Formats: sequence, structure tokens, C-alpha cells
Amino acid sequence: MSVGQYFRDIVETVRSVAIGMKITIRYVFMKPVTVNYPEHRLSFSPRYRGIHEFELNKCIACDLCAKACPVDCIYIEKTGPRRIDKNTGLVDENDPKNGKLTRFAIDYSKCLFCALCTEPCPTECIHMGKLHDLSAYSRSEAVVEFTELDKQGLRTPIPLWMQRNKEKIDWVRKEYDRVVAGQLAGTDGDIPKTG
Ligand code: SF4
Ligand code: SF4
Repeated sequence: MSVGQYFRDIVETVRSVAIGMKITIRYVFMKPVTVNYPEHRLSFSPRYRGIHEFELNKCIACDLCAKACPVDCIYIEKTGPRRIDKNTGLVDENDPKNGKLTRFAIDYSKCLFCALCTEPCPTECIHMGKLHDLSAYSRSEAVVEFTELDKQGLRTPIPLWMQRNKEKIDWVRKEYDRVVAGQLAGTDGDIPKTG
């Protein structure tokens, strides 16, 4: 290598380091785009697609949602057909003509959150909710048994982070109270930006 090339390489190296440092320094002084979750959080869009919310007392076990699912992650088991009572808009579980929905489960290790299952539902009893963070230690734990949740009066599972933070963070407690009360999430962008 010539002496000239040697010094040209040094200049080129210093120049590339300076360009890199300029970019780094610019980002150091920019406003952060992340938030300290869950103390703070960003608002959800009205059409956000989170963990499903399921109204078992309106489900007629027609299988249309399972057939629409592109990854076959909805599991339905029933003893017979079910009908909606026109007076109440619900399935009468005490009517002997109605079958029982013995299992309605979704495997979240496969779910794409595409919402295709909600489109064909004739009774509009399966919805995309606003909760997320459904972490699990095994694949089997990622299967949510909505029929079991219904026995506890829940339409969607309560994530661990919600249980742990409900006493400490105001918005988490409000969301926890809503879920425990079996209320569906709103469809507006109703969760305000905080922090
Ligand atoms: S959101 Fe999509 S992938 Fe998930 S259960 Fe519904 S249809 Fe299946
Ligand atoms: S499409 Fe609706 S009514 Fe039919 S099985 Fe699915 S959730 Fe139940």
C-alpha cells in the first residue's frame, strides 16, 4: 500500500465515523417514540384487533367463524343446534330443544388477528377486542377456552399484566373492572392516550 493510500484510508474511516456519530447524536436528542408501558400507553385505533371477546349466550354454534378462519384455530364442540330466542335475543340454555356449546376455544399460537371470523357470524357474538399481551409458557396455554371463561362471567381472558397492575395504575384498573363485569370493549378509539 502506498503512503497516499494509507492516509486516504484514514481520512475515509474518520469521515464514516463522523457520519455515524452525527446520526446517533441526532437521535439522542429526538423525542422518544416509545412509552413506558403499562404506566403509559398509546391510544388504540377504533379498528384495533386484539384478543377476541365472545358472547356465548348469543352463539348458535353454526361453525361459520371456524370455517372462515384461514388457519383453523377455532375449535367448536356442541351437542346439537342452538336457536336464538326472539324475545330475549339470546340462546335459552334451559330450552331442551337447544344443544349445549361444550367448547369454544381459539388457539392464539396460530391466530393471525385477521378478524375474518367475525364477518360471517349471524348473531354478531364474536368480536375483536382491545386486549393484547397474552403471553404463555407453553403452546397449550395459548389456547383460550372461552366456554370456561364464560362460567366465570368473562368474555375475554384477563392478562397477567392486568392482574398485576390493576391496583397501581388507574387505566388498568378501569379496564380490569370492565372485563370482570363481562362488558365488551367499545368500538371507538375510546382508550385515551396517557403520559
Ligand atoms: S382472527 Fe383470523 S386467524 Fe384469528 S381466529 Fe379469527 S379468523 Fe382465525
Ligand atoms: S359464527 Fe358466531 S354464532 Fe356461529 S359458531 Fe361462530 S361465534 Fe357462534
